[in-house]
Amino acid sequence: MDSLSESSPPFRISSNAWRCAAAFAAVAAGQAVVLVALGRQWWCDCGKLFLYTNQPLGPHTSQHLLDPYSWSHLQHGLVLAPLLAWLAPKRSLAWLLVAALTIEAGWEILENTPWVIERYRSATAAVGYEGDTIINSLADLTCCAAGFFVARRLGVAKTVALFAAIEIGTIAIYRDSLLLNVLMLLAPVEAIRSWQEAGWR
Ligand SMILES: [Zn+2]
Repeated sequence: MDSLSESSPPFRISSNAWRCAAAFAAVAAGQAVVLVALGRQWWCDCGKLFLYTNQPLGPHTSQHLLDPYSWSHLQHGLVLAPLLAWLAPKRSLAWLLVAALTIEAGWEILENTPWVIERYRSATAAVGYEGDTIINSLADLTCCAAGFFVARRLGVAKTVALFAAIEIGTIAIYRDSLLLNVLMLLAPVEAIRSWQEAGWR
């Protein structure tokens, strides 16, 4: 690369930003179409639209924009950015973003299939879980994208520290976290389940 192209970063930044925005829009649109096809509703039964719902398990959780589980979607981005950069070091930023968002959208769709919703209800303490609304699911995708860019800015060491801080913070405040959620979905621990139920009541 010669010095001329290095001296014109604004064009490169803006074309990269456009590519990333287009990538996000494309994945979000695809995710929304599949969720509509799965019969998910757009937002909460209450008809309002809150920015943040502070309950780990409540009638508005996973139905509005942000809630305690938004942190876990931010964490997905924190994990996916360094992992994908390591697996595919030669790929462009937009390519890595598309890969991360496609994985996240895939999880969002899986999370809203009847099978996984039923698994949450039977195995974890989320007995009344009904799946996400489409608005909440798209906000989750946005949190993942935010985590992706934060991780790229922080570098691996600080990203690991931030991931750990979010784990500790969400366990302390909400009695749930990304790692606890995965554990309880795959191999439920009865003691954790009753501890969570006691806190969520
Ligand atoms: Zn609501």
